[in-house]
Amino acid sequence: MNRSVNTASPATALAESLAGGQLRMVDLTTQLSSNTPTLELPAPFANLIDFSIDYQSEYDERGPYWKHANIHTGEHIGTHLDAPVHWISGREGKDVSQIEPERLIGPAVVLDFSEQAATDPDYLITSADIEAWEEVYGAFPDNCWVLVRTGWDSRGHDREAFLNKYDGGSHTPGFTAECALWLAERTEVSGVGVETVGIDAGGAAGLEPAFPMHYHLLGHDKYGVTSLKNLQQLPRHGAVIVVAPLPIAGGTGAPSRVYALVDGGDVR
Ligand code: MN
Repeated sequence: MNRSVNTASPATALAESLAGGQLRMVDLTTQLSSNTPTLELPAPFANLIDFSIDYQSEYDERGPYWKHANIHTGEHIGTHLDAPVHWISGREGKDVSQIEPERLIGPAVVLDFSEQAATDPDYLITSADIEAWEEVYGAFPDNCWVLVRTGWDSRGHDREAFLNKYDGGSHTPGFTAECALWLAERTEVSGVGVETVGIDAGGAAGLEPAFPMHYHLLGHDKYGVTSLKNLQQLPRHGAVIVVAPLPIAGGTGAPSRVYALVDGGDVR
């Protein structure tokens, strides 16, 4: 089917492109369930609860025509957004309900570090790594989201493999402190998305500052998104990402549905 697209109206063109297959949507979201892996902080720090769903009626005497449930969850679970107020460096910044929607949609650049992460689960991406990528594939566009593939989504079904804890710590890839500050200061960047449980590396408590992605990004009014999947379906340049967190008043983050719009057909 090769229908022409009404380009007079950009919104209509978008809808027609989706209907006609010139554009398709890729869901980058991890499903939420009681098995969804969550960050585990060591004592004495307080952890958030896991997700659970508690049905209050199931077409029975508690509600004969309907089924509905209470959900119990921490803010920072599964595919979720970190808002500036999540971190001490962003404490005067926005909560999750205050982030402008315009910052939550934009061009995606997709960088693949899965080879490095397969060899070294503690691999830390440097600004030189990213500069080398831009030399080859082109500079970051304005209002972009930097999406980092590490292959970690393939472990998402298995909490132990996903958190990868041994020798007293979690071993998952992330960014150097130098790279975190460099990304935070890039005016083109709205946010950073990763496949791991958090935007910082598993060993980031030992960096200076501790958890530098949280510290620098959130302190610069940039946002993080975690536990993404299907990034391998996106081109390096040319996808558009839509990040849709729940607008929890005062929320430091929220579970989010994250989509990418990509050109139809062969995206590579
Ligand atoms: Mn978080």
